[in-house]
Amino acid sequence: MLILVTNDDGVRSLGIRALAEALRVLGRVVTVAPDRNRSAVAHALTLEHPLRAEEIKPDVFAVDGTPTDCVNLGIHGLLQELPDLVVSGINRGSNLGDDITYSGTVCAAMEASLMGLPAFAVSLDSLQFTPDDLHAAAEFSRGIAVKILKNGLPERTFLNINVPSGGYCGAQLTRQGRRRYGAAVTVNQDPRGRHYYWIGGGEVGFEDMPGSDCNAISDKMISVTPLRTDLTNDAAFAALREWSLSSFSGHD
Ligand code: MN
Repeated sequence: MLILVTNDDGVRSLGIRALAEALRVLGRVVTVAPDRNRSAVAHALTLEHPLRAEEIKPDVFAVDGTPTDCVNLGIHGLLQELPDLVVSGINRGSNLGDDITYSGTVCAAMEASLMGLPAFAVSLDSLQFTPDDLHAAAEFSRGIAVKILKNGLPERTFLNINVPSGGYCGAQLTRQGRRRYGAAVTVNQDPRGRHYYWIGGGEVGFEDMPGSDCNAISDKMISVTPLRTDLTNDAAFAALREWSLSSFSGHD
């Protein structure tokens, strides 16, 4: 088995190393990850400058690009054959609800899924996790990897997994929930008297939606959400049909 591991926290992060280590018993693990923290770059792809990949250890590549770049480089440049599985993580901090649209972790798995490969993302719900937390997330990831390597995933599906820190009661299938953000921009003054703005730091809450990823983590459950890239809102078709878009172009 050949497993490609990546994440946006950077190639030297504790999480990615714990994940690679846990998966190594299943086959050859090749890590291709950004050379620094590239969190919250979502699905960004570098097109305007060339990329370099340095093999800092056998089968561990540091790339001066995004997580999505890393998946592309890994699959089309660095690996001689297609991986059987792509895993992105273990991220420092959860990726729940609407957050996944910013997430480099989740979008790396999405990129692999777009290429037709089975993939999942895994995140720990704490910025200050313990070795035990890391171990729990790595063990669970290995279990999921075994399952996927044996049974595959439904078509066009990838998984977003979140693990609570401080121990968990079990695991459950969830759907994507909704985050609530407080005052998300901090305004301050630099030493030269100019304003600067810092996004984040506000109180983050979530809507209480039973069965959601946010609720699961709040209940100390591991959350496993099947995702797809098709964002079409089927429920909106009925309302939008009334716009008679065909008449816009003069056909009605
Ligand atoms: Mn990250």
